Amino acid sequence: MAVSVVPTRAKIIIIGGGVGGTSVAYHLAELGEKDVILLDRNELTSGSTFHSAGLVGQLRADPTLTLMNMHSVDLYRKLQETDTPPSWRECGSIKLASTPERMQEIRRQIGWAKTFGLDLHEISPQEAQNLFPLIDLDGVVGACYMGSDGQVDPSQLAMALAAGAKRHGVQIFTHTRVLEIKTTNGRVSSVVTDKGEIECEIIVNCGGMYAPQIARMVNVRVPIVPMSHQYLITDNFMPADAPFLPSLRDPDNLIYFRQEVSGLLMGGYERNSKAWSADYNTIDNIPANFNNSLLAEDWDRFMDIAEASQKRVPKMSEVGIKSFINGPEGFTPDNEFCLGETSVGGFFVAAGFCAHGIAGAGGIGKVVAEWVVAGEPTMDLWHMDIKRFGSSYESPDFTLQRITENYEEYYDIHYPGEERKSARPKFMSPVYEWHKANGAVFGEKASWERVNFYGTNIGNDALRPKDWLGNHWSSAVQIEHKATREDAGLFDESSFAKARISGVRAAEFLNYVCANNVVKGVGKTAYTQALNSKAGIESDYTVTQTGNNEFLVVTGTAFAVHDFGWLEKMRREHAFDGVEITNITRELTCFGIMGPKARLILQSLTDADLSHTAFPFMNSREIEIAGIKVRATRLTYVGELGWELYSDVADGLALWTKLMEAGKEHGLKACGYRAIESLRLEKGYRAWAGEINSETNPFEAGLGFAVSLKKENFHGKAAAVAAQANLKRKLVSITFDDITCVPFGSEPIRIGEKIVGRIKSGGQGYTINKAIAYAYLPIECTEVGTKVDVEFFGTWHSGTICAEPLFDPSNDRIRA
Ligand SMILES: Cc1cc2nc3c(=O)[nH]c(=O)nc-3n(C[C@H](O)[C@H](O)[C@H](O)COP(=O)(O)OP(=O)(O)OC[C@H]3O[C@@H](n4cnc5c(N)ncnc54)[C@H](O)[C@@H]3O)c2cc1C
Repeated sequence: MAVSVVPTRAKIIIIGGGVGGTSVAYHLAELGEKDVILLDRNELTSGSTFHSAGLVGQLRADPTLTLMNMHSVDLYRKLQETDTPPSWRECGSIKLASTPERMQEIRRQIGWAKTFGLDLHEISPQEAQNLFPLIDLDGVVGACYMGSDGQVDPSQLAMALAAGAKRHGVQIFTHTRVLEIKTTNGRVSSVVTDKGEIECEIIVNCGGMYAPQIARMVNVRVPIVPMSHQYLITDNFMPADAPFLPSLRDPDNLIYFRQEVSGLLMGGYERNSKAWSADYNTIDNIPANFNNSLLAEDWDRFMDIAEASQKRVPKMSEVGIKSFINGPEGFTPDNEFCLGETSVGGFFVAAGFCAHGIAGAGGIGKVVAEWVVAGEPTMDLWHMDIKRFGSSYESPDFTLQRITENYEEYYDIHYPGEERKSARPKFMSPVYEWHKANGAVFGEKASWERVNFYGTNIGNDALRPKDWLGNHWSSAVQIEHKATREDAGLFDESSFAKARISGVRAAEFLNYVCANNVVKGVGKTAYTQALNSKAGIESDYTVTQTGNNEFLVVTGTAFAVHDFGWLEKMRREHAFDGVEITNITRELTCFGIMGPKARLILQSLTDADLSHTAFPFMNSREIEIAGIKVRATRLTYVGELGWELYSDVADGLALWTKLMEAGKEHGLKACGYRAIESLRLEKGYRAWAGEINSETNPFEAGLGFAVSLKKENFHGKAAAVAAQANLKRKLVSITFDDITCVPFGSEPIRIGEKIVGRIKSGGQGYTINKAIAYAYLPIECTEVGTKVDVEFFGTWHSGTICAEPLFDPSNDRIRA
């Protein structure tokens, strides 16, 4: 066999020649990258790709993923016209609703498909049967059809992408195994293969289920587990001249079908899933020679799926089985891909495609190639960003529990406010037992148990939202909201991600990374965003100067890896040597005491002067409360007079108890995160990954006040100046008079007959007694008072664009 000679140097090395790697190669070549090589330890497509079922559906719950899948379809159509066609067949797809709830989901999806211009429409059960005559309609409530979905031959797709990449100069080396990855100063510097060492600047790990193995070479954890996934192919039984069938999904029965030659391919997501080569104690351990291989047939686990398929398509019990495939596929803990740059500079990952990698490959290749070239994502990819996974995912046990839960619920409807059930509790505040004893209902964020609300607070059930938002709703939230507005609320926010930034260049560093001036003197706090080079908001946090060369950065619970990772990247790429970034999340508790009586309560426990003149807004001091040392910072995320109190974890319970005791006579109530959400929506405070993200700039988001264009320089300044001068869209608040009629994301917005945008976030405002939503609209549509229509579950509801903020526009409360 000829031994290929690998080069000694390449700018970009892609590891893995499945659909992921070949698509990244194709798109890098399209972007003009000339010095790219792709390595595979075996043949192209010899991992998960060759045994894929090849269904391509576009509409997903996440708008970004939908856009990515739409790109896939455009690309596969285009490739079909080349001399290496991937057998793309635009056969359309049907989704059946076998329950009323599924029908609601379908109607909701049809709504948001309108915002993408997708051709998804509702069809009757009879129309579904006309398109797919083999189905029995028993239990079918309704259906939808999308004509532009299709199917593709996965191996041919990878080959077509590889051919396109090669045409533009990408070199592909098969039977070349990566054995080691070397780093220098926190960045990748070379790849050692069994054919020699190759220096490089960037590596893209497209290793599919093998990606964790590859990432371990640089001590990076990629939480992917190979899961067994099965389908069968029947004998040919349909007349050769019969019209080609659309793909068919019946998620309530956990099954999918597509036509294969003149038979059917049928698979599903069983409730008794099985990991392969990994268990609760060990990380994945895929044999070194596992390529072009399948797993043994596991009929026991497939029986329920097979029976369900026979009920929906009775012919399935008559026809013979040509082949049965049990193939492993890399799944992630939340069913979204793992994309992006890791904590090691230049080491990217694009893996964990959770059985929708063929549908996603085109879009994945595009966004990852753009990310590699630009050094930052070109659209909001937070849901797929490898940095969404916190330290808990270093545990094989935690990871597998989450992946198992996720796999088994693959086809389930997920309602707003639903919580994960597996691997809990993991991280707890020192007040956890107190919360539990006092009726707390917990939610989970980044492995932290957090109080959603206290079930003991019984409010007005007439406010329960109609439709899905009502499922996990509690009237307690309104009680806690009201207590905070009228007296005071105490919030346990210990899970906030916190970092200490120190060193003689700490101030210079933070003022470079942050758009606001965050160096205002010891004891001052600033609210800021960190921008990327296109002025998109990478992070949103508060910075407190705690010493001449020391700062405290506080951000959302889920953003520790992402936001502190961005700080580390900035330090590395802009040579701020000597600046130390220390994650101190688990060292400090944080309690927010908020409301008109917050000062009264707190003052009764301290000698420190808490008056407005002595302790103004956005100031921070070390004081003693009930004899306990705390850092008190006067700020608010709920629009009330208040302080965030940071103490040593060891003092947390004592501090909480003293505060509750002192607050008793003033109506202080322990409150949860759901109340925070309602309060902040009224006040118009933005949430990262809610209304703002790496794709939105501060000016369109209404955060221009937190950008200091007076500063000589900061990261993204040039783009921020341009963005301010060229505003094309703006975030607006929309209210609905019926507080029980609440949108919660992605619903289409119409003015007259024209779709002008989609909802970003929504909820209930108990003080203003309205439902609230936020959305970006073209600037010409943003006039206050404009009437808009928003479609929820197939019905249009009238709302009004309102002036912001909806509550306390003069800020009298927070500056009291
Ligand atoms: C049974 C089944 C049915 C499916 N059906 C569908 C479907 O209908 N629709 C859909 O969209 N998706 C489907 N999928 C998912 C889809 O097939 C995968 O998401 C996709 O093929 C994964 O591609 P990949 O490039 O990430 O990984 P892979 O194809 O596994 O490629 C990874 C490559 O990395 C190489 N590699 C690993 N380690 C090294 C090393 N050290 N050095 C060099 N190379 C290395 C491997 O040899 C391999 O070729 C299905 C999957 C399965 C298992």
